[in-house]
Amino acid sequence: MEIKASDDGAGATAGTAEAAPSHFIRNIVLEDLERGKNQGRVHTRFPPEPNGYLHIGHAKAICLNFGLAAEFGGLCNLRFDDTNPSKENVEYVESIKEDVRWLGFSWDDREFYASDYFEQLHQFAVQLIQSGKAFVCDLTTDQIREYRGTLTDPGTNSPYRDRSIEENLDLFERMRAGEFPDGSRTLRAKIDMASPNMNLRDPVMYRVLRATHHRTGDKWCIYPTYDFAHGQSDSIEGITHSLCTLEFEDHRPLYDWFLDRLGVHHPQQIEFARLNLTYTVMSKRKLLQLVQQKRVSGWDDPRMPTLAGFRRRGYTPEAMRNFCERIGVAKRNSVVDFAMLEHSLREDLNKRAPRVMAVLRPIKVVLENYPAGQAEELDAVNNPEDPGMGTRRVPFSRELYIEQDDFREEPPKGFFRLSPGKEVRLRYAYIIKCNEVVKDPTTGAIKELSCTFDPETKSGASQSKRKVKATIHWVSAAHALAAEVRLYDHLFAKEYPEDIPEGTDWLANLNPKSLERLVSCQIEPYLANARAGERFQFERLGYFCVDSEDSSAQKPVFNRSVTLRDSWAKIEKGGRKN
Ligand code: ATP
Ligand code: MG
Repeated sequence: MEIKASDDGAGATAGTAEAAPSHFIRNIVLEDLERGKNQGRVHTRFPPEPNGYLHIGHAKAICLNFGLAAEFGGLCNLRFDDTNPSKENVEYVESIKEDVRWLGFSWDDREFYASDYFEQLHQFAVQLIQSGKAFVCDLTTDQIREYRGTLTDPGTNSPYRDRSIEENLDLFERMRAGEFPDGSRTLRAKIDMASPNMNLRDPVMYRVLRATHHRTGDKWCIYPTYDFAHGQSDSIEGITHSLCTLEFEDHRPLYDWFLDRLGVHHPQQIEFARLNLTYTVMSKRKLLQLVQQKRVSGWDDPRMPTLAGFRRRGYTPEAMRNFCERIGVAKRNSVVDFAMLEHSLREDLNKRAPRVMAVLRPIKVVLENYPAGQAEELDAVNNPEDPGMGTRRVPFSRELYIEQDDFREEPPKGFFRLSPGKEVRLRYAYIIKCNEVVKDPTTGAIKELSCTFDPETKSGASQSKRKVKATIHWVSAAHALAAEVRLYDHLFAKEYPEDIPEGTDWLANLNPKSLERLVSCQIEPYLANARAGERFQFERLGYFCVDSEDSSAQKPVFNRSVTLRDSWAKIEKGGRKN
């Protein structure tokens, strides 16, 4: 696999959405339009199976399908490929719809289900039996596998392969009528047991399965396989370009075979590389396992690569779409660096998120020369990137909180923030000086920092331009609100979590430090009215969003969406990333 370069440098020019290069699928569509193929129609679809929540890989497929349709004045359907009732349910259907909408796409009234076509698919099957192209087989699943052969050995014909058309029609009808137990019989395509393409070795089209379907209930006890349903569903919907991931390349000859034998509309299938991300697993089966084993709090855990997880974490649809545009569409599998996704988010939030001050690990500062009981309000800029976002008033008083990390009793070389006898500027406020470290007499723990402020250093005052080497954030103790802040790291500790030695489990690569909950944070009062999902930059700390599940007015909870780049953390390698 090829690794894409990380892109987390400031001002990196990895190509913006506007400047995105074209890709081979867009070029195919353009050529088709030029040649007047499909009467100039472009009709795509996004075809999820409702057996889990969507992940960021699906976002790539969604942006591609809906994006191309929009670009060429075409249509894109949302179709649920719901052929496996034992794994599918309505919760998944609803979550998928919410996620597609959130990404900013609309399927209008084109919400379809493969299960809507069960009757038609059944007729297609009968048509293939009638033309001698399908047969009812009594082999068990295990036997079918044995008869199938291997990549090097051809398979063996089923002893039931030469049943008469009449017998096949009769048995298939009785399969549908419920005369046979689950798994006892299948309907198979009669193709070629010696084909080098295993998919063409008389694949199963229908199986007997008594499972209640989330839409058709108990109407059916035979269900089409994905391979029999997928291509025909595309055909029924008049899809022109059927885009799917590379693993379906080997299925294309089978889909072609069905469509050609049936003599129906034949969409063009085009395969592209699926999205893989470092530090992430992307299969729904594995994500389901994480949820079921309670390794995460749910499908929408902010560490999950699901769209619900990213949304709760604070990702924006714009950042997602830009990311999907930026990674491009290729024919060759690769792994994208997670840092590139984070870059897309920072780029978006930098323009939009108001900046506020919050102290995550507070240490108290007492300004001995500031009158007790007094307070003032200072002007703070909401976003230097966008003057239109205005200013706000931030309360200042005698007792403040600053970040523990911004103070060192014994500062290492190059540490320019607060330490005994040293000065630092408080953002939007004054320069302060630390005079004494007050400790708990019994434990020796630092209780507070006794400081003084220089009144002449306020913005607009005579000494306002006086330079000190660092500016730090703070909140006024009397005015600040208590909050919980959740810091996240990658869910997996390994860049390639699925790359594991034989006999070990990918779950062993889970990062035990992926979540850190800080429960005694102090945030500026401006955040009192922050609504669920609202996003902010906490100055110097990163971008944060109000948690949509656990936050309340009494106990606000913020998720860190992404860090800012912290040059100090780099110097101090191995230390805590703040
Ligand atoms: P998974 O393998 O993660 O379980 P899936 O392919 O089984 O996913 P589907 O619901 O069948 O999930 O996927 C719907 C559409 O999304 C398909 O067209 C599929 O090709 C596409 N898709 C799934 N995963 C990715 C991915 N990682 N990158 C790009 N497209 C993807
Ligand atoms: Mg699938």
